[in-house]
Amino acid sequence: MVADERNAFEVYRDRVDRPLGRLFHEYGASEAHWLVIGMVANVVARVAGLIPPVVLGVAIDAVFTGSGPYTLPIVPDAWLPTAEAPQFRLSVILIFGSFIVTGVFTYVYGIAANNFAHRVMHAVRTDSFDQMQRLDMTFFDDKQTGEVMSVLNNDASNLEVFLDNALQNSARLGVMVVGIATVLVYYNYELAVITLAAIPLMFLFTLWFMRAVEPRYVAQRSVVGDLNTALENALSGVELVKTSNTEAHESERVEDASFSYFRRTMSILRLNYVYRPGMELLAGLAFAATFAVGGFWLANGPPGPFSTELTVGTFVTFVLLTQQFVAPLAEVSNIIDQYENAKASCERVFGLRDIPVRIEDDDDAIELGGQTRSDGGSKRGRGVDGTVDDATGDAADAAADHGGVAGAVEYDEVSFAYPGNALVDPEDADEEVLSGVSFSADPGDTVALVGPTGAGKSTLLKLLLRLYDVTDGAIRVDGHDVRDVTVESLRSSVGYVAQDTTLFDGTIAENIRYGRFTRIDEADAEESEVRERVVEAAKAAEAHEFIASLPNGYETRIGERGVKLSGGQRQRLAIARVVLQDPAILILDEATSAVDTETEMLIQRSLDRLAADRTTFVIAHRLSTVTDADTALVLEDGEVVERGSHDELLAADGLYAKLWGVQAGEIDELPEEFVERARERHVDRAVERATESEVDAESLDD
Ligand code: ADP
Repeated sequence: MVADERNAFEVYRDRVDRPLGRLFHEYGASEAHWLVIGMVANVVARVAGLIPPVVLGVAIDAVFTGSGPYTLPIVPDAWLPTAEAPQFRLSVILIFGSFIVTGVFTYVYGIAANNFAHRVMHAVRTDSFDQMQRLDMTFFDDKQTGEVMSVLNNDASNLEVFLDNALQNSARLGVMVVGIATVLVYYNYELAVITLAAIPLMFLFTLWFMRAVEPRYVAQRSVVGDLNTALENALSGVELVKTSNTEAHESERVEDASFSYFRRTMSILRLNYVYRPGMELLAGLAFAATFAVGGFWLANGPPGPFSTELTVGTFVTFVLLTQQFVAPLAEVSNIIDQYENAKASCERVFGLRDIPVRIEDDDDAIELGGQTRSDGGSKRGRGVDGTVDDATGDAADAAADHGGVAGAVEYDEVSFAYPGNALVDPEDADEEVLSGVSFSADPGDTVALVGPTGAGKSTLLKLLLRLYDVTDGAIRVDGHDVRDVTVESLRSSVGYVAQDTTLFDGTIAENIRYGRFTRIDEADAEESEVRERVVEAAKAAEAHEFIASLPNGYETRIGERGVKLSGGQRQRLAIARVVLQDPAILILDEATSAVDTETEMLIQRSLDRLAADRTTFVIAHRLSTVTDADTALVLEDGEVVERGSHDELLAADGLYAKLWGVQAGEIDELPEEFVERARERHVDRAVERATESEVDAESLDD
């Protein structure tokens, strides 16, 4: 099977059917009243705009040249004055009035159309962001941030422009063409034939233009993607670019992509250059022909096959209305441009929407720790003062301490392969990185994970957080499969301190309370009490001292210039964050980078405190961590190859003993047999995969 090389986003985008139809169906419906008000107001304003030329024509004939009666379309003659002076006054009032009506309704139309377009844009943007947040890590592993950013920004704005300008301009164009044609035919259908002869030509010309320009827009879209990728790569990898001296190479890549974009855009514009003046020429010819034939008609009577009478007033009405055609026609190419952009944007919006979310709550998912446990331990909460209500039994205590979650963790024959491009094709997963891993940890235990880089230690713990789902086997917390509990309750029961801590731009206090008391309204205590608990947490994390020494203490903005936190300080903030979260289970990714001895001691002390009454998993890089742990699991190539306490493992004299031998400087490098074994395993796997694909090919041949 040939894997689809495109990422999930591109694949789902290409599958979107009738994007603009979906936009109206899913977003337009709830805001349809604004659209309707806007359209009606737009039509009224445009129709009112047709009144002055008509009234002027009638007034010329009835009042000034006396060559015709004072009649108006639709209005009964009985309502109209018969004397010339009141006829003139009425004409003035009608002309004034029509401008006022046009102004008022253009105002209403502006409000309604903008409300419609901006409300839809807002909904699209927030929905897309929500969807993006729900997507699995698999999606983000592909590094599609640039594309998502462009959905949230450009695409939402493109839709707004389309829903506002393009839609209303098309309505205006429709009203103008139909309205003007009706008036012209009503007054003199013979001269109207001359004037309107240009309309079918314009229609055909527009059809040709749309056919010709559409593929050019498609081509332009594909190079926009290349350009974004080139820019994103160069920006996100700026350190690599600088250290490997590849600025020139990156410049060339961006230049190439930008030049392709330039060429595609010019090829669209070249058609525009022809189309726009072409339309104006046709409108101009219609005007000139109307003027020439009408003028001849007035002087010499009906020319050729024509027989009706033409008055000066009607002639003036014709000339003025024909002029009104030109402006909206010039807009057609803009409408098409906005339409094409909106269609592409809409495909991206719904492409993102259609990517399946795999890691979601089951319909019957339960709250982890949210129910009375059947094993005799009763659910008790933390008192207001932060102390546990009563205390009997270790596990029950632990459970009471952490919102009813005891923190027993069990891995049962867990196998896992990264999903690869599985969002596109469920069959298309990477090779297994964990195979048949089993172990269990009792509440409060500390388990150290040891093994060479790439052995699968981080992956093992990501599965516990349910950043991915196991391929085979099960992971249970307090006896519940992690897939049967709500993602929220699971993740709030598991604290995570990463090697390199991510902090947000904001104050120190905001960063510590992030996730626990993120929003003031969700705090289950008074604001002053929350502040107190933030300080307590910082103290427990050995971070209070350095925070207090900062110019603004807890209110110091982290992103502010001049305040640069060291790695050790950042990590202590992350620890404080987890202290506040107070989870039953803790995941620590021990930092490999060296900090000074004093800082290390502070961090170690705070971590010990943090781990004391929780089930803790540490990705261990230090010998002391393993000696302190209840048990250590040695992973190699996705399998648990050894397990036991530090002493037991040393005595076994296997991989663990060798790894720590290297670390302690007792032996220089891993013995050849281990390296050889790892190599063999890789070869075995490669052979296995090759055989599998041969089998696949054979079964396909059958
Ligand atoms: P460790 O933490 O022991 O260094 P990891 O769990 O990070 O090992 O990695 C185990 C294996 O999984 C490695 O072969 C790595 O290349 C692969 N891997 C890690 N993360 C991903 C990912 N997001 N997508 C695909 N493969 C991954």
